[in-house]
Amino acid sequence: MANEVQQFDVVVIGGGPGGYAAALYAAAAGLSVGLVERDKVGGTCLHRGCVPAKEFLETAHVRRTIEHAAEFGINTKGVSVDFAVSQARKNEIVDRLHKGLSGLLKGRKITVFEGTARLDADQTVNVIDGTDAGVVAKGTNVILASGSVPRTLPGFDVDGTVVVTSDEFLDLSVLPATAAVIGGGAIGCEFASMLADMGTEVTILEGLPTILAGCDAEVVSVMQRAFKKRGIAVRAGVTVTGHTPGKGGTTIQVEGGDDVKVDMVVLSVGRRARTEGLLGEGTGVEINERGFVVADSYQRTANANVFAVGDVVANSPQLAHVGFAEAIVAIKTILGEPVVPVDYDRVPWAIYSNPEVAFCGLTEAAAKEKGYDVVVKKDPFGGNSRAQIIGETDGVVKIVAEKRADGTAGQILGVHMAGPWVTEQLGAGYFAVNWEATAEEAAALIQPHPSLSETFGETLLALAGRGLHVG
Ligand code: FAD
Repeated sequence: MANEVQQFDVVVIGGGPGGYAAALYAAAAGLSVGLVERDKVGGTCLHRGCVPAKEFLETAHVRRTIEHAAEFGINTKGVSVDFAVSQARKNEIVDRLHKGLSGLLKGRKITVFEGTARLDADQTVNVIDGTDAGVVAKGTNVILASGSVPRTLPGFDVDGTVVVTSDEFLDLSVLPATAAVIGGGAIGCEFASMLADMGTEVTILEGLPTILAGCDAEVVSVMQRAFKKRGIAVRAGVTVTGHTPGKGGTTIQVEGGDDVKVDMVVLSVGRRARTEGLLGEGTGVEINERGFVVADSYQRTANANVFAVGDVVANSPQLAHVGFAEAIVAIKTILGEPVVPVDYDRVPWAIYSNPEVAFCGLTEAAAKEKGYDVVVKKDPFGGNSRAQIIGETDGVVKIVAEKRADGTAGQILGVHMAGPWVTEQLGAGYFAVNWEATAEEAAALIQPHPSLSETFGETLLALAGRGLHVG
């Protein structure tokens, strides 16, 4: 006998940040919601991404702090690392957050189905395996939020010990003595930074001309200098062709350059959409040539009743908080409420390396490419009193503004930061860019003293024409 069809206002496929945010927001609006998750709600972000990676980076931070304790007159006797403890701590945090999220979904009366979902015609979602195999859930609207998985490289088969992606890396209980991180993007730089702080000898191998491509050039050079100072070897503009496993490690071949011999290769070369088996016949949803779901700025796919949010969406920046924002756009669109689409050029970016990187809006180069005349001001963290107090003075704040006809700085186009705790300071820069504030408007706001955020304030004052410390 065919299974009875369960009807919902919204059926969500995938319980990561995009999917669970869509489910929670829809339920908060009084809609009935079914959510299908094949693994664990929380998705990549909670189980294999943001949260585990930041726990490891915090472990690295603790070690760094202890190593510098003597500068503060605090004497500690040698530092030893038991990484398995950090791994266990990470798992506890993830479990707690997972329980919290599961409880939240239950509390909002969201029906969670366990299994792999396939969208078929007429917004019908079939659960094809798992505990709830056979369930048929029909949504007035469906949201695709199946996320992404790590990409791999030809010639580098992932074995979980010598060659790992972020998935395996974040489950390690022992760190390698030497490692090559292939890919110097946000995740690659976080991993390299964390490994170096924990005592691993690290080489970053990047195909593009620089690490952190897409970041402002000033930020990139701060990071390159800081990495060099900490002994991280950065080889950019190189092509890796394969590797030859040997005793306890492997040797990576680099085209036209020296080989790199390491204990572990960490692949960090981007993420592909998880769309295999997601769509049955007649869904009307378009998938692009790279395998991502095509959606408009209201997150609507080529089928007007099917939306897509998060990493699975073509051109979405693959950030958890962008998934949240897209989820809200999708649900408000379903509700027929007015909503401003997510502007991918103005979302906040945060990289939790040492030093940290945070930015929002156009880089100087991108602003010029778009035809803007710009005024640019920057202030290094070296003169910031709080930075000196905490002993972390590497970094810079740079602000890019549109140049008015009289040569003064007008609307703020981009805020770029590298330095201590900048991921926690970007909020003000994000507001400035998204509120389309001018330099004078933003400069009139007072920053507390002594605080790291004064460097942002100083840069704004200079941008508005007269800095206290910055010319
Ligand atoms: P996912 O989180 O991938 O969730 C998709 C879910 O759908 C999964 O749970 C999957 O099991 C499920 N699923 C897939 N297909 C089906 C199906 N057919 N049926 C049922 N269920 C299905 N972002 C940040 O903003 N900040 C960070 O600091 C950050 N750090 C990161 C660090 C690392 C190492 C990594 C890998 C990523 C990081 N990210 C970070 C990115 C962030 O994790 C992703 O942008 C985010 O998880 C995407 O959310 P999503 O809901 O689109 O997809």
